[in-house]
Amino acid sequence: MSRPTIIAGNWKLNPPRIDGNRLLEEVAEGLSAREFWPESLEVFLIPPLPYLGEWLVRGVSPPIAIGAQHCSPEGWGAFTGEVGVPVLADFGVKMILVGHSERRQRYCETDISVGVRVGRVVAAGVRPCLCVGETEAERDAHETFDVIERQLSAGLESVSADDEIVVAYEPVWAIGTGRSATPQQAAEVHRAIRSSLARQFGVQRADRTAILYGGSVNPGNASGLLAEPDIDGALVGGSSLVAGDFLGIIDRAIETRRGGPAVSK
Ligand code: PEP
Repeated sequence: MSRPTIIAGNWKLNPPRIDGNRLLEEVAEGLSAREFWPESLEVFLIPPLPYLGEWLVRGVSPPIAIGAQHCSPEGWGAFTGEVGVPVLADFGVKMILVGHSERRQRYCETDISVGVRVGRVVAAGVRPCLCVGETEAERDAHETFDVIERQLSAGLESVSADDEIVVAYEPVWAIGTGRSATPQQAAEVHRAIRSSLARQFGVQRADRTAILYGGSVNPGNASGLLAEPDIDGALVGGSSLVAGDFLGIIDRAIETRRGGPAVSK
């Protein structure tokens, strides 16, 4: 098995330009001061759209890459306010979140429209990060695995075994609440996701697919989550807006890979 550890920061609507540019610099400086194996760690920053233009023109250095929070299910045309995958790909976006629960709940994205978006993203040679996760009511009703399976099969409908994808398990009740899933709760869903990928695409493809956990990850709970063999990284909201916290989560990821403390150069 060889899959990268991915730590991705979803900034949502935040922050103001001056703070966002400082945050990028602090994360970049923090990473260049740390020792890690470049091929084993990927760090995505996923800011509001206007930052993309600024940063992609200026350029960012590995292991940082830039992601987008949203894309249209359409490619080109008269869809005011939307942003299409071909344009995002042209400008150098390397990953696109699809099916985040905030988009499903507040912007009426359905399993079907999520699947269409994922299809567009892989067709453009960009990695989709398909977000799946149950609500609290669904968990209480013991429907977690059914919900995940439904979201996965619709979301990956147009994906083939050769496409590069990332899946993020984000229980809706854990997002922005400060109440993370326990490592055990997350691990059993991650195992189910990997089994589902294996059924759909084969064991080798499933073994190479990074499955991230998202939902109130912070430097204090990251170690326990990332120590689980099927948790390959984190999709981070609130804690990605504070450089020290985001770098702290990255340190926990480096430590888990290394089997010892993260060290400075
Ligand atoms: C998210 O919105 O993807 C997320 C995981 O947010 P938070 O870390 O704030 O729970």
